[in-house]
Amino acid sequence: MLNTWWSRAQAVIPGGVNSPVRSFKGVGGEPLFFKQGQGAYLIDINDKRYIDYVGSWGPLILGHAHPEVVEAVKSAAEKGLSFGASTTAEVELAELITRLMPSIERFRLVNSGTESTMTALRLARAYTKKQKILKFEGCYHGHHDALLAKAGSGIATLGIPDSAGVPPALVESTLTLPFNDIEKVKSLFQREGDQIAAIIIEPIAGNMNCIPAKKEFLNVLRELADAHASVLIFDEVITGFRVALGGAQSLYNIKPDLTTLGKIIGGGLPIGGVGGKKEIMDLLAPKGPVYQAGTLSGNPISVTAGLATLKILQNPDVYSQLENLTKTLMQGFERISKEKGISLKTRHIGSMFGLFFTEEIGLPNNYEEVKKGNLKLFQTFYHHMLGEGIYFAPSMYEVGFVSLAHTEKEIDATLKAIKSNLT
Ligand SMILES: *Cc1c(COP(=O)(O)O)cnc(C)c1O
Repeated sequence: MLNTWWSRAQAVIPGGVNSPVRSFKGVGGEPLFFKQGQGAYLIDINDKRYIDYVGSWGPLILGHAHPEVVEAVKSAAEKGLSFGASTTAEVELAELITRLMPSIERFRLVNSGTESTMTALRLARAYTKKQKILKFEGCYHGHHDALLAKAGSGIATLGIPDSAGVPPALVESTLTLPFNDIEKVKSLFQREGDQIAAIIIEPIAGNMNCIPAKKEFLNVLRELADAHASVLIFDEVITGFRVALGGAQSLYNIKPDLTTLGKIIGGGLPIGGVGGKKEIMDLLAPKGPVYQAGTLSGNPISVTAGLATLKILQNPDVYSQLENLTKTLMQGFERISKEKGISLKTRHIGSMFGLFFTEEIGLPNNYEEVKKGNLKLFQTFYHHMLGEGIYFAPSMYEVGFVSLAHTEKEIDATLKAIKSNLT
């Protein structure tokens, strides 16, 4: 059926979408228009149902329209959408997050993950009085100028190296190295460690498919940051409350100086947050000289959705349930692809998973290795699955998510669909 909404969208919205990853550039064809989300399912405007493994790109760990979250948001909305003044809920959220993530002593709410990493860099530069930032290839930290160098999925899918419109002077102080490469980081710090204000990293990268940092790599980053008085920033916008209640930092048992959060802490509504060591965070205005502000920061609706979500995530067994389901799905994938002689490999950390159509022997450990994946095979697979009502992110560079609304039933249905499609 001709999708007239898609033509209408393209006529008035650049590229037809409000965020580039939503376009189907990486897989071909036209993006779907959805009218409803329901637990593990999305329903498109033609009433076709899909099992959803995108989860709005991470926030929806409880699935779509979880009744407790919807109820909390409704009752908050009835009391007013925003006051631009202090509320008790934002204090509760900050208390909860500082308790669940012990490296966070002070926490400030913003409106997106992009704002949170932007603020973290500004803090790091003010604190260290140094300018350079080290990031890693394939990691995405939002779309502000300083961090749009080799920035992962969105840009990789479109095949553009870096963004136009970013002043060269701003990216000059952004250094980029391959993920998981200990020797390169060591020699960089030997040369110019005294100029590096911050190291920013996704401890488990979710913007170049699914690539966990090696424990030894993160240990070296922690040691180098300490030795050279640089600030270590963990961007846990995806992994925070996704891989464990304490985030990736609890799995690795490494304390960053600053942590950036977003996605899950807003329960599906716009939010971001930056937190960490008191002595760094207290540089923020009005206490300190680093300016940062937001008209809708800490608005009661996003905060309430976040609190309702985090409340459920504190139930025992939540993370083992997510892990078990995801494991069943991944093992099913591997088994079926083996039977069919397809070179598909999988990886998962909790409910974050990666599918790699690769001929290589091992799983990829950095962006260059992810790029070796078989794009043609992925695209064919993608459209077959979409036809069967299984919705994955439309790019080989994206991670997938299982939610608490998924059950054995959805996993079985997904595996059945795979079985009929991998030929
Ligand atoms: C999504 C994401 C961001 C940006 O968050 P927005 O809310 O989209 O601005 C930053 N860092 C990581 C790791 C992300 O996945």
